[in-house]
Amino acid sequence: QAKAAGRNTQRFFDPDMQAAVNARSNLEADLRQGLARNELLVHYQPVVDHQARLVGAEALVRWRHPQRGMISPGDFIPLAEQTGLILPLGQTVLETACRQLQRWGQDAATAHLSISVNVSARQFRQPGFVAEVLDTLKAHRAEPQRLKLELTESLLLGDIEDTIVRMEQLKAQGVGFALDDFGTGYSSLSYLKRLPLDQIKIDQSFVRDVLSDPNDAAIVRTILALAKSLDLQVVAEGVETTGQLGFLRLHGCEGFQGYLFGRPVPVEELDAMLDPTR
Ligand code: C2E
Ligand code: MG
Ligand code: MG
Ligand code: MG
Repeated sequence: QAKAAGRNTQRFFDPDMQAAVNARSNLEADLRQGLARNELLVHYQPVVDHQARLVGAEALVRWRHPQRGMISPGDFIPLAEQTGLILPLGQTVLETACRQLQRWGQDAATAHLSISVNVSARQFRQPGFVAEVLDTLKAHRAEPQRLKLELTESLLLGDIEDTIVRMEQLKAQGVGFALDDFGTGYSSLSYLKRLPLDQIKIDQSFVRDVLSDPNDAAIVRTILALAKSLDLQVVAEGVETTGQLGFLRLHGCEGFQGYLFGRPVPVEELDAMLDPTR
């Protein structure tokens, strides 16, 4: 053990470690620059109802890196959160979503669609968060009723009273809330009751093996029953097969998202799916 052997033998400059540190700070500088150069873009994944009709879309950020190509959020959101870059990044995604809501609002065929935007804890806890969301909606003349903010259970581990106040302020203007990746975190059921949520999203890790794993099947059925008794909408994430869909529908699920209905795509592709003649 390094500590027992004394300070001198600690390998502060382990080459692998140094490489990891370099890679991280390169990525951070890249991300900062990428934000400034508009390399961050938003794809939209369809959300459908029990009749497979499109009811909205989730905005999912991507980074078109000039050298590395398209990078998934899983590979830079954690870094963005650590460095605070999640604030400008989150604002960019919110603006893009609001601009899109305004466009959809102009056309009777799309005016009913909503957009869900992921919000990280750091963003949500920022002092000006509520005002920023409302200002952005206003600036883009987007209907607050069409915007849904997705929060994760880890965010709820923070100051619950503060969380409720912020949510209520946004809800008063029509903004909706979903609890994302439900079942993977530590949120207690009493919180679930107190929070002004509209929707919970069943995490894809429970949906994946719902037909083969009796535990996952039990969890999914329990979440659906819970949502029903708390009068919350449910969206099942990661629906890839008609078998999974059949199970979910049988147990009362009415909202779905997953590759079975569509992958996240640039908005033009979603528009084309809506109206193939366009
Ligand atoms: P999430 O919010 O739970 O989004 C769902 C993820 O599941 C997306 O991954 C989506 O592409 C993927 N997915 C959807 N359907 C299927 C399916 O049928 N099968 C499988 N295997 N996967 C499916 P993505 O786009 O890589 O995003 C990963 C996560 O990154 C998101 O999870 C969200 O937590 C975070 N994220 C994405 N965009 C943003 C953003 O703008 N802000 C913040 N704070 N986080 C974001
Ligand atoms: Mg989400
Ligand atoms: Mg999710
Ligand atoms: Mg997730």
